[in-house]
Amino acid sequence: MEEQGAEDVPVVYLHEVKRQYTQGEKQLIILDGAKLALWPGQSVALVAPSGSGKSTLLHIAGLLESPDEGEVYVGGVPTSQLTDIERTQMRRTDIGFVYQSHRLLPEFTALENVMLPQMIRGLKRSETVKRASEILAYLGLGERIKHRPAELSGGEQQRVAIARAVANAPRALLADEPTGNLDPATADHVFNALMQLVKATRVAMLIATHNMELAGRMDRRVSIVAGKVVELD
Ligand code: ADP
Ligand code: MG
Repeated sequence: MEEQGAEDVPVVYLHEVKRQYTQGEKQLIILDGAKLALWPGQSVALVAPSGSGKSTLLHIAGLLESPDEGEVYVGGVPTSQLTDIERTQMRRTDIGFVYQSHRLLPEFTALENVMLPQMIRGLKRSETVKRASEILAYLGLGERIKHRPAELSGGEQQRVAIARAVANAPRALLADEPTGNLDPATADHVFNALMQLVKATRVAMLIATHNMELAGRMDRRVSIVAGKVVELD
């Protein structure tokens, strides 16, 4: 029997997602029937003003937060009925997340920071060393693996954070303004690293960014308008 191609199913699919926050007496409706499909090997820019719900959308797509209504499918599997353990498991294996600030552990080297998610997943130490070294070298950090985060430049820190996010070979890579703190040349370098990973691994990528030049180099651009995801251009 022929197996159904994984490429026929969105890696992540948000269906009619609603998310609201209570602020004092007010109900803030941030997402209201948002729909978005992320596909293997496709990079999507999420471009929208501050406060419009980009981080909320990324957290929901990354199973870090649950929607109030609607469903998040990962590889076609609805996630709302999963147990906490199952969700955590899925987040670890299927999703990589990169934040605006690197969030690396300061006491650990670059190599150890990239080994950790693999060790948590239960891989043998020797395997994690091998894989972490390979990914860091691939991202141009082969000479920096023994450095602690404080001994790295901003761009290097962010590339280690990307290496950590892809350490478990996720199907989706979600990045929340990953170049927001970097100067233009460094931002370009980090962005190129992300794009290179999409090409090489066919990971589905969603990047929230204010940088229109970078957004223009991605496969697809979306925004958030009145709580819904709209396609740009
Ligand atoms: P963006 O990333 O586009 O700047 P966010 O998703 O962070 O936007 O936030 C969207 C809106 O939701 C903002 O107005 C923010 O203040 C509000 N918000 C976000 N998280 C919470 C929360 N935990 N409690 C209350 N309001 C929140
Ligand atoms: Mg944000």
